[in-house]
Amino acid sequence: MVDFIGIERVRELVARRGAQRFIAELAQEIEADFVRWDAFEKSPRHASHSKVGVIELMPACDGRLYAFKYVNGHPTNTRVGLLTVTAFGVLADVETGYPLLLSELTLTTALRTAATCALAARRMARPDSRVMALIGNGAQSEFQTLAFHDMLGVREVRLFDTDAGATDKLERNLARLHLPGLKVVRCASTAAAVAGADIVTTVTADKCNATILTPEMIAPGMHLNAVGGDCPGKTELHPDILRRPDVRVVVEFEPQSRIEGEIQQMDAAYPVTELTRVLAGSAPGRAAAHEVTVFDSVGFALEDFSSLRYLMRVHQEERGTQRQIDLVPDLEDPKDLFALLADERGGAPRTAERAGVTA
Ligand code: NAD
Repeated sequence: MVDFIGIERVRELVARRGAQRFIAELAQEIEADFVRWDAFEKSPRHASHSKVGVIELMPACDGRLYAFKYVNGHPTNTRVGLLTVTAFGVLADVETGYPLLLSELTLTTALRTAATCALAARRMARPDSRVMALIGNGAQSEFQTLAFHDMLGVREVRLFDTDAGATDKLERNLARLHLPGLKVVRCASTAAAVAGADIVTTVTADKCNATILTPEMIAPGMHLNAVGGDCPGKTELHPDILRRPDVRVVVEFEPQSRIEGEIQQMDAAYPVTELTRVLAGSAPGRAAAHEVTVFDSVGFALEDFSSLRYLMRVHQEERGTQRQIDLVPDLEDPKDLFALLADERGGAPRTAERAGVTA
């Protein structure tokens, strides 16, 4: 039997821990894994593109545990009532190859993306950053706000989305959260939201080279948390922002980010620093107050590996709905797989006795 974590169980786990504690703990796990970077087998994710979206497989392995995530990105899905991003994943034991956990990763992707962005921003944003512009107020936006409020001390968020309904929804959800000291300001344009911000988070969805941020919007000292550009031909920053002499760009895994990140707009010699070096302290996230720092986030498999391992631990620690699923046969004689089909009396196969998902 394999542990199973569905949407309901993640809701339960987040409710028990509290969303901000959950994100902060997730951030610690992710940071610890980024620091032991060399222990991991790493590769750019495998992407299958269509006209409207992408489906990706993201594997990572540290020699003891293996994980993969299935994730899609379909920006037009919301027009027909579906999410832009959905995901699920598996954690497996390298020793036997057996899956240990099958988990939802849609909610978890939003939590881990926010955690990773906040981790990067802690090293890259000016320490006195309190005001964040949030461009794109869809599914990821509350999670980004929670993480930056708790981990960075952001006390004002300035919202803009081309869909006023998305901003209505974000405002409503933030009002319900009652985050201490948080001022929420609705803005009429991206430029209005960005003016005076210390941190700018772009988390829009459009399958094109969108120019959400243009050079004249950027002030010295800003930190840009560029989350929505994460596929070939899908970017958010005008390339001249990346050409500024005072810019410093941090990426997760360079070979993948060269294909998918904002830096796909730059040539192969364009200088970037990997997040592992910033978190390990061997490279600065910011060297001067006037620098413009960019976290060119695309989402890397290591973040999902850490998330699955964290979910498994919390799932085992927290009481509640612990479920298992009969994903792998459990046999008396492992060479007699056919017994599962042949034994009508139900004697041999142990799996048949426990078929289905058990509570
Ligand atoms: P979503 O569709 O729920 O929300 C996106 C929002 O962006 C929508 O409300 C849309 O109206 C808005 N938008 C589109 N174009 C805009 C523009 N020009 N100006 C202002 N707003 C605009 O999607 P989501 O789940 O919130 O994801 C947002 C983006 O983040 C997607 O592109 C997704 O692929 C990406 N993402 C990245 C990571 C990562 O690790 N880097 C993880 C998850 C999602």
